[in-house]
Amino acid sequence: MHQIVILGAGTGGTLTANRLRRAYGSDEAVITVVDQDDAHVYQPGLLFVPFGLTHPEDIIRPRGRQLHPGIEYRTTGVDHVDVAERAVVLADGSTLGYDVLVVATGSVLAPDETEGLTGPGWMEKVFTFYSPEGAAGLEEALRWFDHGRLVVNVIDMPIKCPVAPLEFCFLADWFLRENGVRDAVDLTYVTPLDAAFTKPVASRKLGGMLAERDIELVTEFNTGSVDGIGGRLVSYDDREVPFDLAVVIPAHNGAPCIARSPGLGDELGFVLTDEHTLQSTVAPEIFAIGDAASLPISKAGSVTHFEGEVLVENVQRFLAGRPLDASYDGHANCFIETGFHKAMLIDFNYEVEPLPGHFPGGVGLPLMKESHLNHLGKLMFQWVYWHSLLPGRDIPGIHSAMPLAGKRQPSDA
Ligand SMILES: Cc1cc2nc3c(=O)[nH]c(=O)nc-3n(C[C@H](O)[C@H](O)[C@H](O)COP(=O)(O)OP(=O)(O)OC[C@H]3O[C@@H](n4cnc5c(N)ncnc54)[C@H](O)[C@@H]3O)c2cc1C
Repeated sequence: MHQIVILGAGTGGTLTANRLRRAYGSDEAVITVVDQDDAHVYQPGLLFVPFGLTHPEDIIRPRGRQLHPGIEYRTTGVDHVDVAERAVVLADGSTLGYDVLVVATGSVLAPDETEGLTGPGWMEKVFTFYSPEGAAGLEEALRWFDHGRLVVNVIDMPIKCPVAPLEFCFLADWFLRENGVRDAVDLTYVTPLDAAFTKPVASRKLGGMLAERDIELVTEFNTGSVDGIGGRLVSYDDREVPFDLAVVIPAHNGAPCIARSPGLGDELGFVLTDEHTLQSTVAPEIFAIGDAASLPISKAGSVTHFEGEVLVENVQRFLAGRPLDASYDGHANCFIETGFHKAMLIDFNYEVEPLPGHFPGGVGLPLMKESHLNHLGKLMFQWVYWHSLLPGRDIPGIHSAMPLAGKRQPSDA
């Protein structure tokens, strides 16, 4: 019997457990999943909460119910991994041995790392929509916001879903226009990057979309402190951005249990991982998926999904003593909600930046172009998440490898 332990029952841990349960009979492998709580949040839904388009109770389900029968589920914290002993030490001091360990502990918000962020004004004038509590508090604040300066600030990279703060700006523009108060509100996007996004073609497109909507873009702003009472973001080089309402995406780290596991993670607590096989570079019996992995690609549910196919294959190859499949290409795919019932889709990987065209082939959803069809795709994705992605079912036509068919170089667009 193989002993497979999976840390985390979020997107990556759940889909991995369910795919492995299908791959192995219950007489071949014991699959144990550990998570510290039983509330599985559909995190893309958090974007819509501040605008009253959904509610936290509509996007949270029990974790245990997303796992197939025959998977052991333990609700307890992980203290650390003892890599040398091949054991996971749980919060109650008990241990779990493993033949294969899959780390899917995601990333955590670290608002306390920014001076003043959680001080006076936090959850009054300064919010984040990256947690259910923050998103719900922001809904209340936005409902009454009818004039002044609304600032959206990314503190530092990496963050989960790097397009979500831009989506927030576009939706805020739409929301304020719908409420008839857009002319009385200055909307500003403040980022540590040197442009609206990380990739050149998408950056130009998204930067243009901010400008069209009269959303000011402030770049290369590294927030050193937040003055919630005075309403000021202050950068390390002493620049200031004033606000009446701030929506902040705090710095992200790997889960603290990784930082407590000597050798397993990098300086931010993300697991050192081979970018093509998803095997830890520290120990061959450890694999990492999703936000927990230190890969040079967006921290996104789509990435987690595409990684899952390769990771599950590689767990089986490792246990059978076969060479690993090094085919994960960094495939990432994001719907970008742009307001007014439209969305844009981007699809890219380690090598290929987001390009115009169609996905997943010559016929399909338009890429790098706002459309109502993409908005419907974004809304439908919640159903796909619970009923197809988490159960570990293949989505017809959508594969781990990024398709080149249907994409065009920008000069051909
Ligand atoms: C506002 C927002 C919008 C987003 N929008 C999109 C989108 O449109 N498209 C997209 O693809 N992605 C989006 N994402 C990102 C996506 O949700 C994440 O990338 C994805 O959920 C990562 O999955 P994961 O399994 O790595 O981590 P998670 O799903 O976060 O799971 C990690 C799990 O590990 C558990 N854990 C951590 N530490 C411990 C411990 N010590 N002991 C026990 N358990 C532990 C946690 O409780 C958690 O359940 C969005 C995220 C946010 C916040």
